[in-house]
Amino acid sequence: MSEVFSAIQGEAALVGERQVFVRLTGCNIRCTYCDQPEALERRPGPCRVELTAGRRDWSTESSPLAIGRVVDAVGQLWDQVPHHSISLTGGEPLLQGTRVERLAGAFAGRGWPVMLETNGTLVPPMRKLAGVVAYVSMDLKLRSVDGETVAAATQSTFLAAALASGATTWVKIVIGPTTDLDEFDAGIAMVAAASPDTSAPVEVFLQPLTPFGAATAAPSPEQVLALHDRALRLHPRVRVVPQTHKAIGQL
Ligand code: SF4
Repeated sequence: MSEVFSAIQGEAALVGERQVFVRLTGCNIRCTYCDQPEALERRPGPCRVELTAGRRDWSTESSPLAIGRVVDAVGQLWDQVPHHSISLTGGEPLLQGTRVERLAGAFAGRGWPVMLETNGTLVPPMRKLAGVVAYVSMDLKLRSVDGETVAAATQSTFLAAALASGATTWVKIVIGPTTDLDEFDAGIAMVAAASPDTSAPVEVFLQPLTPFGAATAAPSPEQVLALHDRALRLHPRVRVVPQTHKAIGQL
């Protein structure tokens, strides 16, 4: 684990909601635009824990933290400010599937809704989270943007597992100037096919790339509009939401 802190969610369906973020280290892929490079390697070591909600007054502890200690750290922030939910994020949290299961169960037991932020590639641990995770924010990876090769079949199976868990599930797609149109269309069509209920389709959030690291260019306004047009012709529920936490200069 690398940090526990209180912040305003800046992405996708819960944008603007106050959450406690619990960030686990380690990721199984390497996206070009990743803005959490320090969380990519799974490691023991220092973990910063916020003491006052939103103040960034950290105490440094030693990771891994005991489950009870994480619950106490979250509870301290939650008692100071009413929060909407907890974001279990990374890295890729499901690399530590058993730990995520135990954390999510402990949080749910306290009545705190849990949102899992995931790259949507690790199916078996997702299947073990039925009933304990309230929300799943799943990335749909595009090689033309991320520079990673994630099998479309894996992402499709993951989405089915997330929906089967009972969690409210949505899909986030980072779009950039290099987005390949065929790959993009195939991704949107996959989500459309996975939506079991046409009256309540899985929501898709297009997130214009915020330049970071090796990804130096954002899509133009014209590209964003054109991709939104394409997506809406394939799927009825698609919104464009940029990273608002970066727009307001928040961690
Ligand atoms: S999946 Fe997320 S944490 Fe992993 S490299 Fe990509 S952006 Fe970074």
